[in-house]
Amino acid sequence: LVQEDVYIHPTSTVDTQQIGESTRVWACAQIMAEVHIGSNCNIGSHCFIESGVTIGSRATIKNGTLICEGVTIEDGVFVGPGVVFTNDCYPRSPRLAAAGSRYDTKEWLLPTVVRRGASIGAGAIIGAGVVIGEFALVGCGAVVARDVSAYAVVLGNPARARGWACQCGQRLRFREEVTCCTNCQRRYITEGSAIRPIEIE
Ligand SMILES: [Zn+2]
Repeated sequence: LVQEDVYIHPTSTVDTQQIGESTRVWACAQIMAEVHIGSNCNIGSHCFIESGVTIGSRATIKNGTLICEGVTIEDGVFVGPGVVFTNDCYPRSPRLAAAGSRYDTKEWLLPTVVRRGASIGAGAIIGAGVVIGEFALVGCGAVVARDVSAYAVVLGNPARARGWACQCGQRLRFREEVTCCTNCQRRYITEGSAIRPIEIE
């Protein structure tokens, strides 16, 4: 049920009761039934969130973003304005005679996950079935067609790894195996083609 202190702008259409405390939904957003949203989220105006979406707590979804069925967004994620998620790699109109049977079951649907703390820049497009790792940072306008490693910074079309970001958002520079964030002093170590924080929080 909709929890205490939830704000839903009167011009929005919200058909779910699963909204956690202190979450805010701004003007002209549409949130369908069977959407789960945690506490302390901010859903910007003109967002569309389809049935079957789960959003954790403390997420920020900026204006005009489309989140389709099959997408899971974990705690603390930032989704910039005008981001488009997708869920079908070979879409056809279900009303097209030749393709109708494709949509008899949900086998076409590819789930997408955005892990905790990750950020997605304005206007990015997220391909169906990808996993964006925790604290990863997707650049504005990027087209993400493959999984993104935790803490990775990916840019462009197709999105490619261009470096690493700290939990706090600062770019990390590695001259050796271990580096320290110049902003928050968290420390990270490289492990093959991945990195991880030395003190887990
Ligand atoms: Zn930092």
